[in-house]
Amino acid sequence: MNNTLEIKNLNVSIDGQAILKDFNLTIPKGEVHALMGPNGTGKSTLAKVIAGHEDYTIESGEVLLDGVNILGEEPDTIAKAGLFLAFQYPLEIPGVSIANFIRAARQARLPEGEDVNAVEYYKELYAKMDALKMDRKFTARSLNEGFSGGEKKRCEILQMSMLNPMYCIMDETDSGLDIDALRIVSEGVNLMRSEERGFLVITHYQRLLDYIVPDVVHVMFDGRIVHSGDAELAKELETKGYDWVKEEFTSATA
Ligand code: ADP
Ligand code: MG
Repeated sequence: MNNTLEIKNLNVSIDGQAILKDFNLTIPKGEVHALMGPNGTGKSTLAKVIAGHEDYTIESGEVLLDGVNILGEEPDTIAKAGLFLAFQYPLEIPGVSIANFIRAARQARLPEGEDVNAVEYYKELYAKMDALKMDRKFTARSLNEGFSGGEKKRCEILQMSMLNPMYCIMDETDSGLDIDALRIVSEGVNLMRSEERGFLVITHYQRLLDYIVPDVVHVMFDGRIVHSGDAELAKELETKGYDWVKEEFTSATA
């Protein structure tokens, strides 16, 4: 389908162990979907497999970006097709400055023979850094090297906003953030919300969803979605925890 990110019957394993089990999810542009669930249920695996991480074995399924299957393509190809993944644990790349890293990524998206306009690029970069309350000095620093948790996450949001992706997947972007950083990161995401873009926000805690209010909330357990609802479902999980999901799931499959 056009204007959707569709994950269809995705089965993924690692070292012979099934992690994603017939996973299905459709995110239309214009919507923010939250994916919640206990640790170890496969949330990060899902994010990484979609983005083209090579550690996992894809048994079957499709991941369609506006109808085009990108499952199993190289991470670079998938990124150029319009998907951005903000990692749970962002990589450190010594010797590559933030400014040059984002510029290279932008350059890679242009047609051959076209160059990033440096003046316009820096103007936009600085405006977006200001919005994220990032110090200008950051542009010269090596990507994520020696950054605090909050700095890394701000940097991920900066990259995301500069690359203008059609679909954004954020894996526990809230982990390691204090309230101020959480607010800034959430504002950055909220500014990017648009009819032209879909979001999958993965989080273990409800807290982030006070700031980024999702259209749909999904609960994942044992490699698949077992429950979906509106933003209220996240609040219910906050008070009830995940045990009832486990119990319901276990009795349903017993
Ligand atoms: P979540 O993000 O929901 O906490 P993960 O996707 O990180 O869950 O992990 C799901 C399961 O897959 C866990 O049992 C985890 O141990 C296993 N797993 C994930 N990545 C790897 C890996 N690279 N090597 C081995 N096992 C992995
Ligand atoms: Mg995870």
